[in-house]
Amino acid sequence: MNRVLGIDLGTTYSCVAYIDSSGKPVVIKNSEGELTTPSVVFFESPTNVVVGTPAKESATLYPDEVISFVKNRMGQAGAVWNVQGAERTPEEVSSYILKKVVSDAVKALQGENKLAPGETITDVVITCPAYFGIAEREATRKAGEIAGLNVLNIINEPTAAALAYGLGDVNEERVVLVYDLGGGTFDVAMIHITPSSIKVICTGGDHSLGGKLWDDRIIEYVAQEFARQTGSTEDILSDPETFQELMLSAERAKKMLSARDRAPIAVNYKGERARVELTREVFDSLTEDLLERTMLLTRQMLEEAAAKGYSIERIDEILLVGGSTRMPQITRRIQKEFSAPVKMFDPDEAVAKGAAIYANRQSYFAQLIEKTAQETGKSPKELREEIRSGKADIQEMARQANLPTDVVGASVDMNIVNVTSRSFGTIAFKSVTPQDGEQEEVLFNMILKNTELPARRVQEFYTVAPNQKTVTIRVLESLSSEEMADPCEGTEIGEAVLELPDGLPAGSPLQIEFLLNENGLLELTATETTHHQEVRARFETADAISEADLSAAKQRLADAMVL
Ligand code: ADP
Ligand code: MG
Repeated sequence: MNRVLGIDLGTTYSCVAYIDSSGKPVVIKNSEGELTTPSVVFFESPTNVVVGTPAKESATLYPDEVISFVKNRMGQAGAVWNVQGAERTPEEVSSYILKKVVSDAVKALQGENKLAPGETITDVVITCPAYFGIAEREATRKAGEIAGLNVLNIINEPTAAALAYGLGDVNEERVVLVYDLGGGTFDVAMIHITPSSIKVICTGGDHSLGGKLWDDRIIEYVAQEFARQTGSTEDILSDPETFQELMLSAERAKKMLSARDRAPIAVNYKGERARVELTREVFDSLTEDLLERTMLLTRQMLEEAAAKGYSIERIDEILLVGGSTRMPQITRRIQKEFSAPVKMFDPDEAVAKGAAIYANRQSYFAQLIEKTAQETGKSPKELREEIRSGKADIQEMARQANLPTDVVGASVDMNIVNVTSRSFGTIAFKSVTPQDGEQEEVLFNMILKNTELPARRVQEFYTVAPNQKTVTIRVLESLSSEEMADPCEGTEIGEAVLELPDGLPAGSPLQIEFLLNENGLLELTATETTHHQEVRARFETADAISEADLSAAKQRLADAMVL
């Protein structure tokens, strides 16, 4: 069987899992012996790159060579860091994290004789937050490519979490709320699971709300306490080294408070010392508004879900995901708000485990289909259909193909249905007749946020001027849930130009089709209906890394020692 890995490429921590010989997902420790690796990259020299805890600890001494929170910049046009003589894109920086966690995993598996010496793994599934748009997903895929990985799929973190909590093998329907509070993001989703599919009904959250903000509250508090205890009027946080040091100790104290009632924090600044004893009570009150904000975002998402027929009463269980849900006040608050049972189990490993489960099933299923197609002469499409309709027995097929049968669940061909996290539309005029004078531009959303993927919509538009030569179709992505939105709510992701035949009168019909596939890639077709002139465009992403930058990044990574 092909070996595959599931990777949770997190904003603050990354994690890798594989499927062991008994079919269970297992997280693989890194070479520092940790289950999760800080997503921090230290460019020590152009050819020496350190990733993880040693990089996070070096941040104090080398603030210009250490990059954290790269995921926040993923897919953003023009985001680069100029480090060690090269402009590093988010894709490149992320590729070092992937390289480190995968090579550590491979080494660990070789050490345990689970891989032959010299044998490696390149097939992976990487996860991303549900609200990632096209550009971010494509950038994640490219990061894998730079690291030399074969990215089978990019899947949503809440979907992966549901798989890890064993919800991929249920015999009945379940409606699940996934509350994921990590270090840099808050992601909340409503999921509908049936024996043959997992469907994301609705997503919400905030990509700048995470455990880091809880740390920041501790830092501010400690700085105030320092001033109070020493009488100093200096701003200790403006000193980068003190600030970095406090970042590490604040996070340590926060984690300690998840298990104990108080945590000590020491500060040294220009020879003056202060010691702060932080209690859980003070910590909870310093951060209460942050917790309340997650509850507000959850309620907002639930309102959207209710509009689609998924009321709060339908929730069967609530899954807590993300390292920050280890803070006891989170479970307490959620239990107070909702009556459904709350589950928390290895919350910072669940996403990687779910990705491994998915990767394993994808890879297994692909092999099963390929082998069976070879042996029977049937087409892969035909075989998939036979399995889906229950005409073919997967177990039997596996025996025939000489593949292990014990990894096969009934739902091996788990159909994961996603919804789009953004709306996609085009700029149009509200009125089509030029005689109306002032024309108001609107963002006409062809595909609305939270629509099931793949999604398709065809809409008729009209030319504005007589003998118009071209129509420029500008495509915008937005978070608006309205069909007619303000253009300034959208971000332009590209445009397509349709050439028109001569002599068309104003108001001639144009047909525009938007097709958004399972991976969030958008295809546009615009047709001038009378003469059938057509233009097609694919919007992989407006902000994709260029081919030249991609190969330069690959070369740099190949030349570097990644530790
Ligand atoms: P990511 O944000 O990358 O998805 P995780 O889900 O691993 O990462 O969450 C990381 C966050 O969880 C960090 O802010 C970290 O400080 C926090 N965290 C980890 N363990 C604990 C703990 N025991 N108590 C409180 N917070 C924790
Ligand atoms: Mg996460």
